Amino acid sequence: MDANFAKYGRWIHTLFETSYARQLFPCFDEPKFRSAFKLQLWLYAEYAKPSYTALSNTNGIPYKFNENLTIWTFNDTPSLPTYLFTIAIGKFDHYCCSSELDMDQNICIWKLVNVENHLWYNVADKVCDQASIFQANTENYVGINTGARLHFLIIPTYLNGMENFGLLIVSERLWPRENNKYSYIAFEKTLKHEMAHQFFGNLVTMEWWNDIWLSESLTCFLALPKLHQHRYDMDLSEDSIIDKRWAEKIPRIVYVKGAAVLSMLENVIEPSNMRLLLQVYLSRYYFQSASTKNFVEILKQVTRDFREEAPEFLMSWLTQGSYPLVFINYDQNNQQFILSQTPKVGDISRRWLIPIWIDCAGGTVNETLYWIPKHSDLVIKLDEVTKTNQTAAITFNNNRIVYYGIVYKYVTE
Ligand SMILES: [Zn+2]
Repeated sequence: MDANFAKYGRWIHTLFETSYARQLFPCFDEPKFRSAFKLQLWLYAEYAKPSYTALSNTNGIPYKFNENLTIWTFNDTPSLPTYLFTIAIGKFDHYCCSSELDMDQNICIWKLVNVENHLWYNVADKVCDQASIFQANTENYVGINTGARLHFLIIPTYLNGMENFGLLIVSERLWPRENNKYSYIAFEKTLKHEMAHQFFGNLVTMEWWNDIWLSESLTCFLALPKLHQHRYDMDLSEDSIIDKRWAEKIPRIVYVKGAAVLSMLENVIEPSNMRLLLQVYLSRYYFQSASTKNFVEILKQVTRDFREEAPEFLMSWLTQGSYPLVFINYDQNNQQFILSQTPKVGDISRRWLIPIWIDCAGGTVNETLYWIPKHSDLVIKLDEVTKTNQTAAITFNNNRIVYYGIVYKYVTE
C-alpha cells in the first residue's frame, strides 16, 4: 500500500448518463422509465473503516456490523430515471449551511479529504450562499419545489458537472480560489447549471434523448443571465436541436442555440407568459417524463389568444439545422421594405417563421413584432413603421434577442 493510498484512500463515483446504469444493475435503462431506488451498500475491509463515507441520492446511515463490514442504508429515493441514480464512496469531508428559503433544508458540499486547504471552508461558505440565493430565486420563478436534497459533490471529473438527483456533481478543477472573483463566476456558471437541472431533466425528464433540449436547453435558459447576447455568427453547424442521434453525444448547439431560441421565444411571448409556460410544464409533468409535443401543447394553450404563431415559430427553430440570414431591401419607388430569408449554411430549402421587431427611433410609431413567413417575403410600407418618412429612423430588433443574421441591402438617406 503506498503512502498516498493510506492517507487519501480510493474513491469512486458513478456517471450513468446516458445508458451506463445497466452496467451496475439490471434495469430498464431509458429516461422514460422511472423507479424509486432502495439502496444498501456493504463495504468490506479497508472501506468498512469510519474514515470512508458512502453517498447516494438520499441520506444514508452506516451500521458497523463488525471490524470488516459496514452496512450503509439509504432512504428511498423518489421516482427517478436510472441515469440520475448515483453512488460515491471515498474519504469525504463536508460543509453545510442552511438555505435562504427553507431553514430546515441544509445545503451541503462534499469534497475529498485530500483537498487540504484551510481556506476551503471560507470558499464553501460563499458557495453555499450562491447556491442558496439561486435556489430561492429559481423556486420562486418556477413556483415549484422538487423536494430534492441540495447536496453537491466536488470531485475530479472530466465533465464540468452532472445533475445526479440530490447529489449534484461539480468538477473539482472549477472550485473557486479565495479572493478571486473570476473563479467564483466560472464556478457559479456550472453550479447554477446543475441546480437548474433539478427542475429540467430531474423533475421532468425527456421521454427519449432526441428531446434532450427539454433538459439541457431549458436548463441553460434558466441558469444563464438574461439579455445574454448569443453568438449565432460562429455557428456553422447543420445539426438540428431535436435529433435521435443525441442519445450518443449531446452537441454544443443543444446548449447554446437551444438557450438562445428559448430567449427568442421569451421575447416573442413576453417574460410573464414564458414563466407561465414553464410553470405549467413542470407542474403537469411533475416527476414524469415529457416530449417536445407535450411542451408545444402547453405553448399553444398559453399563446393561442395573442401569439398563435409561437408554436410554429418554435418548431421551425428546433427541427432544422443552421439559422436564417434575413435580407432587408428598401424599394425606393414604392417606399417599402422587403424582407426575405435564406439559410446560413446547408440545405437551401430550409425556411423559418422569423420574428422581427421594428421600431421607429423617432418614437412616431411603437415597436411592433412582425413575422417573416416561411415561403414569401415580408413587405412593409415605410409609413406603417414611421411617420418621419426616413428609413434612417427604423431600427430592427433593438434590444431583442434573436438567433439569426440581418444583411442590410439598402443605404439610409
Ligand atoms: Zn446539463
